Amino acid sequence: MTKTITITIADADANPHVNPSPNPEANVRSPAYFIARTTGTCWNCGVDLPLLALALPDSHETLEVDDSSAVEPAVEPAADWQCAASSAFLFNIEYLPEAVGRRLSEVSPHFRRDQSGATGAAYWINHCARCGAAQGDDRLHCEPDGAFLPTNPAAAAAVELKEFNEPFEAGAAGYAYEPEYFDFMRRV
Ligand SMILES: [Zn+2]
Repeated sequence: MTKTITITIADADANPHVNPSPNPEANVRSPAYFIARTTGTCWNCGVDLPLLALALPDSHETLEVDDSSAVEPAVEPAADWQCAASSAFLFNIEYLPEAVGRRLSEVSPHFRRDQSGATGAAYWINHCARCGAAQGDDRLHCEPDGAFLPTNPAAAAAVELKEFNEPFEAGAAGYAYEPEYFDFMRRV
């Protein structure tokens, strides 16, 4: 596989085997992003706590990796940035730029990068301010009526979305495309 060092957008479009991301850890990028905030209950001690998440407007892009021909991890699979046509939530986030991390810590110091017990990988994860227990993203994003997976408009209205018109990229293992009731979440 050939790879150029300096490329233009046109070159990237012409050659789907070139990954134009300046950061090899990123698999989503966007000209703007949302910090989502809601209130949940600690699974460990039962106290109410703020919960944060990241969401992207429909102008974001995802890095689509064609790994059908690459079975060896050492072989870099072909990848290409694709425009999304809908908003999305991100979860199980392994990589965020420092500027985004600063924005998050201004909202809550309890959403921070931490080792996950299950896999050993480090993810951005909510923590209880009282007992310190990690609030796993799977419970918040993947279970119906999870804090960021509302199943009706009223539940969605409990989620606040604050938009930042700043460049964003992330490396996220979890990606929830076209979130239901996204339009019912409150813009603040
Ligand atoms: Zn707790």
